[in-house]
Amino acid sequence: MLKIQSLGLICQGLGLRLLGIVSTQDPLDGTECQIALIGNIGDDFWQFLTAAPEYSDGLPDRLDRYCRRTLTESAPKNARLIMPSDQPYAPFQSWAQGLGTMHPSPLGMLIHQDYGLWFAFRAAWRFPANTFILNQPQQSTSPCQTCADKPCLNTCPVSAFSATGLAADTCRDYLTAAPNPCIAHQCQARLACPIGEKYRYQPEAGQFFLKSFARIAQ
Ligand code: SF4
Ligand code: SF4
Repeated sequence: MLKIQSLGLICQGLGLRLLGIVSTQDPLDGTECQIALIGNIGDDFWQFLTAAPEYSDGLPDRLDRYCRRTLTESAPKNARLIMPSDQPYAPFQSWAQGLGTMHPSPLGMLIHQDYGLWFAFRAAWRFPANTFILNQPQQSTSPCQTCADKPCLNTCPVSAFSATGLAADTCRDYLTAAPNPCIAHQCQARLACPIGEKYRYQPEAGQFFLKSFARIAQ
């Protein structure tokens, strides 16, 4: 039987992390399956990406292409790769909430008790049901519940957050206009969050991820 630890090691060898595995229904056909969520925590991933051929080939979507290639090449034989950019879009956030350690935040993205806002989903492997023996999900409390001031909500220069989460177009319009502190340093709202400070992205990596999100040529 495939071991969870083996999956974790495959991901680590690519600079990625196995964020957890959930039992759920396949969004395409409704069958029972298990989803292994893969992403980056902090910017460990950065040195792997910058050394990869995709980083310097001059073509767009370097991050997505790096993850797609390496996770296709390394996939266990009964796994199917699902990328966040694949359509129809897969419910990554909903899957992740099944882990019990990631919670909705006022910014729309999930927050983790330890890593805060400094992680991202990059892919998932879909496995047949019962491929792994899973423990009961851990249950943590959202750090947002005890964050009285919620500084994340008062720092975005264009107030791109509302009760429904991030207004992505408002954010992108701002990022693609004149020079701004977000592109220069990082998303100001994310930086304002006190959780997981040691996992903050270094400026070069943060700038790259933000430009990728805003589809700014780089
Ligand atoms: S600043 Fe507070 S409310 Fe905002 S994401 Fe961080 S913990 Fe949650
Ligand atoms: S990147 Fe800047 S504009 Fe976009 S949500 Fe963060 S703080 Fe607001």
